[in-house]
Amino acid sequence: MDAKMIGLENDIVKLSEYKQSWIEYFEKEKKLLREKIGYQVKIEHIGSTSVPGMIAKPIIDILIGIKSLDEIGNYIEPMNELGYEYKGEAGVPGRHFFRKGNGKVSTHHVHFVKYKSDNWNRHLKFRNLLRTNELVSRKYYELKKRLADTFSENRPLYTDSKSNFITIALRCPNNIITVLDELKSCTICPRNCEIDRWFQKGYCKSGVNVKINLWQKHFGEEPILSGSRGSGTIFFSNCNLGCVFCQNYQISQLGWGKEYSIGELADIMLELQESEAHNINLVSPTHYALQIREAIILAREKGLKIPIVWNSNAYEKVETLSQLSGLVDIYLPDFKYFSDVSARKYSDAENYPEIAKKAIKEMFRQVGHLQIDKNGIAVKGLLIRLLVLPENKNQTENILRWIAETLGKETYISLMSQYYPTYRASEFPEINRSLTPAEYQETVEILETLGFENGFVQELEITPEWTPRFKK
Ligand code: SF4
Repeated sequence: MDAKMIGLENDIVKLSEYKQSWIEYFEKEKKLLREKIGYQVKIEHIGSTSVPGMIAKPIIDILIGIKSLDEIGNYIEPMNELGYEYKGEAGVPGRHFFRKGNGKVSTHHVHFVKYKSDNWNRHLKFRNLLRTNELVSRKYYELKKRLADTFSENRPLYTDSKSNFITIALRCPNNIITVLDELKSCTICPRNCEIDRWFQKGYCKSGVNVKINLWQKHFGEEPILSGSRGSGTIFFSNCNLGCVFCQNYQISQLGWGKEYSIGELADIMLELQESEAHNINLVSPTHYALQIREAIILAREKGLKIPIVWNSNAYEKVETLSQLSGLVDIYLPDFKYFSDVSARKYSDAENYPEIAKKAIKEMFRQVGHLQIDKNGIAVKGLLIRLLVLPENKNQTENILRWIAETLGKETYISLMSQYYPTYRASEFPEINRSLTPAEYQETVEILETLGFENGFVQELEITPEWTPRFKK
């Protein structure tokens, strides 16, 4: 074997076409390892050099399963004698990493993990998936090529971006293809950023995984959603609007939160169902519509039965919403503006009123008027929220008129008085205050005069106390 067939400088990413000799390199090294460290360990060839046809960094990755990680001290010296340098966990809890090579060039990586631990299973499951699923393997090949071109001199970023693919593929291999392709040029919402979310961030600053700040049972929603056992609320980070008064601005605008894969999101939904929440309430879901769609399908396969609530800002495309048909049970849009000028000024959104009208019509087409069960809990349908802003009587009236004329007076409305100035509202004197009782009462009267039969009117509260406590 030609020694130059393997080996790569440590910091760079340079991929080689697949070589049959990589298997021979592995077998040769396995024999050396067995002779040196014994036959009690399990040894497997992992990584892309173990997958026929895959492009790979020409470094042989070897997984060694031992009974307990406490034994690692017994292996360091024999591994040194074979030319390996011990690097500790090297950023991966539950793994001990060894590198073999010549100065700056590595030829072999050895990962010691506990036999049959999550680390062990995850490596083998992904290798076997790539060996057996042609489509996943092809998509991984394409992704690696693109990543290597972009991050040729930044191996940590190359590795991080690949891990998104691995996480999603392991949890729901069949869905990775859709998510991968649809996020390649993102047009999920009306912003149509057309950026590749595997590498770049668009207006919503969101990547491939969903980002979540908090999930919990919430008792502050409308009574038909919160009921006695709470609404299973998931607060997504980031947003496709830029509202200057956002009451959740720490997560929507500052992006507080942590990333989760589609499979993990499905598990969160199941956990909320397990806690006896009445429903799954997805707050600000629009920019993660594809990932959420896949998570709902996966969670339903695993036994999710309670209704899904789509709690959004209505700045959404009909094409995207139509992909949720049959998956979302209750639509809960906040119809924010009837004036283009206000939408642009306070939410940085072009054409909001027309877009929201179309989105709400599509929601109504899918689920119809709200249906409530014998226990007073919503099971399906549309409930439109209106957050009343200061100095905004005309817009509220126009929105309510449009709803009455387009969808009917039996439409469920939730009139919300909870506005208080926060985030950047102080830059806009006209909205830099809470509602006055008279102002809110006028809005309630409009609702009554127009003859709406169903809905909720929030009591006037001038306090941020109801807002969940988000953590950074
Ligand atoms: S979801 Fe995000 S990246 Fe995609 S179009 Fe909307 S704002 Fe842009």
